Amino acid sequence: MRCTVIGAGVSGLSCAIRLLESGHQVEVVSDKFSPDTVSDVAAAIWYPFLAAPVDKADRWGLETYSELERFAKEVPEAGVTMRDGREYLRQVVDLPTWGSKIAAFRVLESDEIPNGYVFGWEFRAPVIEMPLYMPWLKSKAERMGCTFRQDKIGDLSEVPGDVIVNCVGLGARELCDDEEVIPARGQILFIEQDPGVGHFDQQPETLTYTIPRSDVTVLGGTAQVGDWSLEHRPEDDDLILSKVEALWPDLDRSKIIGGNVGLRPSRSEIRLELEEIEGRLVVHNYGHGGAGVTLSWGCAEDVVSLIEGIQ
Ligand SMILES: Cc1cc2nc3c(=O)[nH]c(=O)nc-3n(C[C@H](O)[C@H](O)[C@H](O)COP(=O)(O)OP(=O)(O)OC[C@H]3O[C@@H](n4cnc5c(N)ncnc54)[C@H](O)[C@@H]3O)c2cc1C
Repeated sequence: MRCTVIGAGVSGLSCAIRLLESGHQVEVVSDKFSPDTVSDVAAAIWYPFLAAPVDKADRWGLETYSELERFAKEVPEAGVTMRDGREYLRQVVDLPTWGSKIAAFRVLESDEIPNGYVFGWEFRAPVIEMPLYMPWLKSKAERMGCTFRQDKIGDLSEVPGDVIVNCVGLGARELCDDEEVIPARGQILFIEQDPGVGHFDQQPETLTYTIPRSDVTVLGGTAQVGDWSLEHRPEDDDLILSKVEALWPDLDRSKIIGGNVGLRPSRSEIRLELEEIEGRLVVHNYGHGGAGVTLSWGCAEDVVSLIEGIQ
């Protein structure tokens, strides 16, 4: 089939690659490409965060985990490494359902939990260095025969191809009149210091993380729902640093070298479904919130299954 993927973030590029692998012809049309997408700003660690429905997100997440773990072992140029992280919680909760299915998962001992927290777990997960991963995804698609066109789509029914794959993220608010898609603003900082293991508190209201990359560690975060500002705010830096220092007291502020801001495409539930619009077949795949990288390959598999079901 001739497939047109709209959007060149992690969702669009992962779908393009899976479709090419299944023998389809693919063009990616997007108004922005790497390094100017939200995906380029992602921190990014594998962790199902701010993503629903939870049962599907867990499945998509585990499929993606396997693929990213394979890249970490076999494809160094993709920029994926496996790192240990510790999640801390302010109350005792059920263990995540994916816990038993990923590497090196264990409940923390009480002397491993910082003040203010009562529970937690350690896990091993892929860290995805988006400044390396996004160009790698694009060049992989290109090598497989994908074509790219820069354009802003205003009407899905006018897009060429036998089937359209809609991966526009926050752009769905305008393109699909979908007011359920809202930004969850995220600000991050970069520091030239390695915390050893990553430290996390990934409750939406207290969101804190340290994600060690090969060159810098990413510090976060914020999840300001409905906030469209891309301006870097000093008051958010102060908030992030005070939260991170509670988990990582050795942080050295003199080693901070910059930061970034991005708008997560948040939605009550990820929209992954087939729709017929004026006789055109459209597979929607947007609204991945804070887990678009974490779910990317699992969602791409489901997009291909929906398309193969049409034939
Ligand atoms: C600070 C921060 C930290 C994050 N950390 C993580 C993390 O650790 N792990 C994780 O899994 N996720 C993380 N995320 C979330 C992740 O970045 C998103 O879920 C993911 O990038 C969404 O990818 P996407 O491809 O769906 O959307 P996007 O990356 O936004 O891509 C959308 C694409 O569609 C294009 N487009 C939009 N409208 C149109 C139109 N009308 N016509 C043509 N093209 C259009 C855009 O130009 C763009 O190319 C983080 C996000 C932020 C901001």
